[in-house]
Amino acid sequence: MSDDTELPGPVPPPDRLFAADRPKNGRAKCKRCKMTCEAGALRIAKLVPNHFSTSGLWTKHWHHPACLWEVFSRQRTTTKKIDDPEKDIEGWEDLVQEDMDEIVAYLRSQGATVATPTATRKEGDATPKAKKPRTGGGGAKKEVKETARPASPPPPPQPSKDDYFRAFRKLCVELSAEPSYLAKTAIVTKLFTEGTDGGENITYL
Ligand SMILES: [Zn+2]
Repeated sequence: MSDDTELPGPVPPPDRLFAADRPKNGRAKCKRCKMTCEAGALRIAKLVPNHFSTSGLWTKHWHHPACLWEVFSRQRTTTKKIDDPEKDIEGWEDLVQEDMDEIVAYLRSQGATVATPTATRKEGDATPKAKKPRTGGGGAKKEVKETARPASPPPPPQPSKDDYFRAFRKLCVELSAEPSYLAKTAIVTKLFTEGTDGGENITYL
């Protein structure tokens, strides 16, 4: 009877059981309708335990938003849904306003109280094929200044002679205070085996 099984257990559930993004390519298929989740369009994943993985990794089951809402409407009420997009959706912070609004609109339609989100990301940043800034003419050049200088690495700690001396002095005091020869030996042995700060008997003030 032992609890010490060496088999890798399932990886604990991730903090956020959903994920959302706009894929750069349209390779993932919607788990419900089996159609492609198109590149550049919002898709939402349910994270599910991967039963084929011995390491117990979690897999993303991507859905079109409408398809996931359909899944939600059919699943048991106890099954995890999106309650708070910020806490439940991985990648939420990187969504554009339009996508946040779409998700929040759905959650509100389900009676959830969700704060109005404010995307920090702009629409143009969402896809890699975003419009490029014009390079011709006298366009304003953006000068990137490096304000944060890499801090010089701190010098390695110098071993202080004082430390050695204090340790030695401490040792002498303890040895002189110890009448037993065996105990003296024990103290010295302890110092050599555990160092000056490893032993209980040898401590700095
Ligand atoms: Zn679908």
